[in-house]
Amino acid sequence: MASTSAPFIPPHCPRSDCRFHRCSPGWRWKRHGFFARDAASARVQRFRCGHCGHTFSEQTFRTSYWLKRPDVLAAAAFRLLACSGYRQIAREAGCSPTTVLRHAARLGRHALLYLHEHRPRGPLAEPVVADGFESFAHSQYHPLYLNLVVGSRSHYCYAFTHTELRRKGRMRARQQRRRALLEARHGRPDPRGIEQGTALALRLAAPQPQGLVVRTDEHDDYPRALKRLTGYAIVHERTSSREARTAGNPLFAVNRLDLLLRHNSANHKRETIAFSKRHQSVVERAAWLVLWQNFAKPFSERHGGGTPAMRLGLAARPVPIRELLEWRLFPDRVGLPPEWARYYRGEVPTRRYPNEQRHRLKLAE
Ligand SMILES: [Zn+2]
Repeated sequence: MASTSAPFIPPHCPRSDCRFHRCSPGWRWKRHGFFARDAASARVQRFRCGHCGHTFSEQTFRTSYWLKRPDVLAAAAFRLLACSGYRQIAREAGCSPTTVLRHAARLGRHALLYLHEHRPRGPLAEPVVADGFESFAHSQYHPLYLNLVVGSRSHYCYAFTHTELRRKGRMRARQQRRRALLEARHGRPDPRGIEQGTALALRLAAPQPQGLVVRTDEHDDYPRALKRLTGYAIVHERTSSREARTAGNPLFAVNRLDLLLRHNSANHKRETIAFSKRHQSVVERAAWLVLWQNFAKPFSERHGGGTPAMRLGLAARPVPIRELLEWRLFPDRVGLPPEWARYYRGEVPTRRYPNEQRHRLKLAE
């Protein structure tokens, strides 16, 4: 990426093994020549860390670091929110679907870091609505819940977690046999999954024990999930899921996010062939969508009304997607909580793929 008019000042050493990675006071660096980049016309300034001696450049601090096709990252960022499948994005960008898949994963990781870095601090100042968004990955034999925790007034999504579910509902005899066979071969999801996943999401949303008003539907798992939150003073307000899903519904904030996930993500459309093949990619795409809805998307497309982040005072204006994507965030500096660190490392398993690739922390984020 071309340098802008103001000279770039490196904020810290990009190497996670250097003592000036996490803190910069006292850090010294030197300019260390230039290099030409295939992806940009202008030459890029290099620097050298005065402590560890490693060299880096302005490009090291951009989300497009180490990408041969940085343009695909922004294209994928927009397209993933516009209901495109990986192959459709690849066709338009002139690259392979695997490249888009890798970019989508990078967007998801970046979103997790951004959401955690910019999250609201201190006790939550509004009731939260918790609910599960149901979808599946690989096949309908592998359904899942994204346990969402959303602010009832701000509509800010404070946290989400992933839970694997057992296929339920009406099945023909052949489908029941198939489920039994798959469960014998690949194991069965934890029947307490929703309870654990919801408790975990609430703890991510409100890490310190505090007074909380939690609104949910009448699902049996929620009272049990709330019991797991020791030390919190919780008021649980329940609403039947049969009530009309209007703006007046106490669960409106989460119903709206459900709708956004379904409306904007190709992988969650009913009867689609663009469904996610891996649970990990569901989490990555959801993280990216949550980041966009929290920081970039005005409350109403027609009437504006600010973004959820603006309503919480975290931002003064909607943050455009290109700005959300501008600077790379470093996992060692952000310090994700364990569950999200697992998502970051690509450790959400899909039972049908025993040897999935994990994201190893190399030099690229
Ligand atoms: Zn260094």
